[in-house]
Amino acid sequence: MNRITQLFGIKYPIIQGGMIWCSGWKLASSVSNAGGLGLIGSGSMYPDVLRDHILKCKQNTDKPFGVNIPLLYPDLDHHIQTIIDLDVKIVFTSAGSPMKYTSILKENGIIVVHVTSNLKFAKKSEEAGVDAVVSEGFEAGGHNGKEEITTLCLIPNVSENLNIPVIAAGGIASGKAMLAAMILGADGVQIGSRFVTSEESSAHINFKDEVVKAKEGDTMLSLKQLTAVRLLNNKFYQQVIEAESRGDSVEELSKLLGRSRAKRGMFEGDIDEGELEIGQVSSMIADIKPVKEIIEEIMNEFESQKSKIGNIQF
Ligand code: NDP
Ligand code: NDP
Repeated sequence: MNRITQLFGIKYPIIQGGMIWCSGWKLASSVSNAGGLGLIGSGSMYPDVLRDHILKCKQNTDKPFGVNIPLLYPDLDHHIQTIIDLDVKIVFTSAGSPMKYTSILKENGIIVVHVTSNLKFAKKSEEAGVDAVVSEGFEAGGHNGKEEITTLCLIPNVSENLNIPVIAAGGIASGKAMLAAMILGADGVQIGSRFVTSEESSAHINFKDEVVKAKEGDTMLSLKQLTAVRLLNNKFYQQVIEAESRGDSVEELSKLLGRSRAKRGMFEGDIDEGELEIGQVSSMIADIKPVKEIIEEIMNEFESQKSKIGNIQF
């Protein structure tokens, strides 16, 4: 038991990332059933779809689960109402300020966690009254901090300066990395990329296959002027690099990005023209397997590495 397993009422301090187009009810309920905390990624869901996924998640697990809401979402109030109406107990907010919505959610008895990529916003989240923060380092896939702070530098800084529990994210896909994050001061970890390549994720099989094939250096942080995002190298990514090196304006970059690029790549499987959001750790992911096996593998490695700490010599 630690502060994170206690806060959520879960067995292992492993939280699945609420990733757009990848984290539907199937993934969230499987992670919760395997002892972690599953999150439905609502950023890509229209209100009716979110409602449907929450109801299906409840049918498929009696364990705690939550919903991730990017605060940039165009129909935010509708999502918040759905969550309150359907009695969801845990919400992770991201991509925006936690100031307004934390109090609304907490007044409704909801546990609130906010995702940030630096100490400044982690402190602001604590002041806003959240129950925990996710501190997400530069290695993470998708939306990312502009300051490029790595998980190794972020976690000790945030955990030393906050009183609430800290969940480490970015570059974590194994028991070794989980143990390292907890030694740095985290109370738990959030894992995204490894769960994209689970059998239960709603990512298109073409995208899962690309993640498994990814090698060192195949993901990069890009579109910093627009919204910093870590992408997998593909034809669309090359177009972004060319546009950036030409010095294209923000308007030109948004035109190139267009609408629904992420859906096209990650959900519909267009691996050339779609936007493929994935973490740096994808180079170490070698297979697609069920969630239960992924979590067992991580926990077995975590325990075996923990028992070896005393052997470290200098
Ligand atoms: P589907 O509605 O296509 O369902 C997939 C299969 O699962 C169907 O055969 C369905 O049967 C079955 N199913 C549904 N509920 C259960 C259950 N409780 N137990 C066993 N089987 C079940 O896809 P999803 O349910 O995955 O998604 C629903 C909608 O959400 C779709 O429109 C999909 O496109 C969208 N979606 C959106 C995501 C996003 O990030 N925006 C992510 C994932 C999905 P039946 O239809 O008979 O219930
Ligand atoms: P785009 O503007 O390119 O497209 C919007 C996408 O969101 C479309 O694919 C659309 O689906 C879907 N969508 C779901 N609900 C709505 C709604 N109420 N109004 C309009 N569109 C909706 O955005 P992105 O795909 O880049 O990002 C979508 C959302 O996800 C944003 O809110 C963004 O902040 C968030 N995001 C979250 C990330 C995370 O991991 N948590 C990472 C990246 C983005 P359709 O095509 O079916 O119309």
